Amino acid sequence: MTLTERKNAAISRGVGMTTQIYADRAENAEIWDKEGNRYIDFASGIAVVNTGHRHPRVIAAVKEQLDRFTHTCHQVVPYENYVHLAERLNAIVPGDFAKKTIFVTTGAEAVENAVKIARAATGRSAIIAFGGGFHGRTFMGMALTGKVAPYKIGFGPMPGDVFHAPFPVPLHGVTVEQSLATLKKLFAADVDPQRVAAIILEPVQGEGGFYPAPAAFMKALREICDQHGILLIADEVQTGFARTGKMFAMDHHEVAADLVTMAKSLAGGFPLAAVTGRAEVMDAPGPGGLGGTYGGNPIGIAAAHAVLDVIADEGLCDRANQLGSRLKQRLESLRDKVPEIVDIRGPGFMNAVEFNDAATKLPSADFANKVRLIALNKGLILLTCGVYGNVIRFLSPITIQDGVFSEALDILEASLIEASA
Ligand code: PMP
Repeated sequence: MTLTERKNAAISRGVGMTTQIYADRAENAEIWDKEGNRYIDFASGIAVVNTGHRHPRVIAAVKEQLDRFTHTCHQVVPYENYVHLAERLNAIVPGDFAKKTIFVTTGAEAVENAVKIARAATGRSAIIAFGGGFHGRTFMGMALTGKVAPYKIGFGPMPGDVFHAPFPVPLHGVTVEQSLATLKKLFAADVDPQRVAAIILEPVQGEGGFYPAPAAFMKALREICDQHGILLIADEVQTGFARTGKMFAMDHHEVAADLVTMAKSLAGGFPLAAVTGRAEVMDAPGPGGLGGTYGGNPIGIAAAHAVLDVIADEGLCDRANQLGSRLKQRLESLRDKVPEIVDIRGPGFMNAVEFNDAATKLPSADFANKVRLIALNKGLILLTCGVYGNVIRFLSPITIQDGVFSEALDILEASLIEASA
C-alpha cells in the first residue's frame, strides 16, 4: 500500500489534507519530504512558524526545558516561566490598562475561554461574531465561525445565543456603514444589546479571506461596546506575532480590545495558546473555572519565550513589512498578464491575492486551486482561503532567507502565468 492508501484506510476523511507531501525534515522556510523532494513553505503549518521551522533559539530553549521537566500541570505544581510569559504578554498585548493572562493549548480553546470569561465578567450570554470569521472547530468555535462548509455541516445543533453580522468587505459590496447598520438592526430585531457579553472579530480575517477590518470599523465597534457595556474580543490567533508588520494586528488600531486570543506562532511550532485581557475581566471566573491539563505546557512556554526574543532581536516586524511589499509589488507587476487577479492586499506579510474568472468575473476557486497545484508541482506550498475559496494567502516564515524568497516569487510568477494561459 502507498502511504496515501494507508492514510485513507487509517485516518478519518474528516481531516482534510491540502497536499500529499509527507514531511521528513524542515528548516526555516524549507521542507523536505520522504523522497528527498524539497519544498518552499508558504503555509508555515497555517501561520504557526512565523519564526521559521526549528529556529535554533526555539529548539535550544525546548531542549533545555526537556532536560528539566516536561509536565507537572501548572494547576498542580506551577513553574516560574509560565508566570514570566504571562508577564511578558500582559506587557505587549495592546491596551493601556492592567492585564492578566491564562494559557491553554489551541486557538479554539483560547476562543472558548475568552467567551467563558466574557460571560462571567458581564453576567450576559449573547455573543456577536461576523460573516466569514473563523474561530475554531469546537462547538463554540463552530457557532462563532461565519462559514458553513465544511466547518458546520452535520455537526449541529450549535450553542445558542450567537449572532452574526456581515464583515465589511467593500470588494464584495459590504461597506463599513452597511455592516454597522446591520449590527444596529440586529440590536433592534434579534438581541437586546444589554444581553450581549461580547463582540468577537479577527482584526484581519484569516480563513475567511485575509480581509483587514477597516480602522473606522474597529473604532465604531469599540464605541458600540462602550455604549452598551459589551466586551470586545480580538481573535489574534492568525494575525499575531509580527505577521501584519506589528506584534499584533490590533497595534494598527487606535482602540484596544478587552480580551485577545493568541495561539499558532506564539510558540513557533509547539501547541500553546493564550487569552490576555483586562485584569478585572480575566479575574471574573472563580478558581478552578479555567484551565486544563496541558494548558501552558512547559515545552510550549519555553518555546514562546524564545519566539518573543527572536521577533525582537531579529526585527521581524520590519522584516515582515519589507517582505510583504516585495511580494505585493511582484503580484502588482503581473496584473496585466494575469487578468484573473482582482485584488492584492494585506498589512505587513499577511498578504493575499484574490481571483475572479476572467470571462464571468465571478469569484474563481478553480483558478486559485489551479495556481496552488501548479506551484506545488514546482516546489512551492501555497494555501487558499476565502468564503468563496478564491483567495491565495501567503504565510511564509518571516525569517525566510532572501535567496529562498526570490526563488519562491519566481515560482509564484511562473505558476500564475501558467494557470492564466
Ligand atoms: N481563530 C483563528 C483566527 C484561527 O485562524 C484559527 C485557526 N485557523 C483558530 C481560531 C483555531 O485555532 P486552532 O486550530 O489552534 O484550534
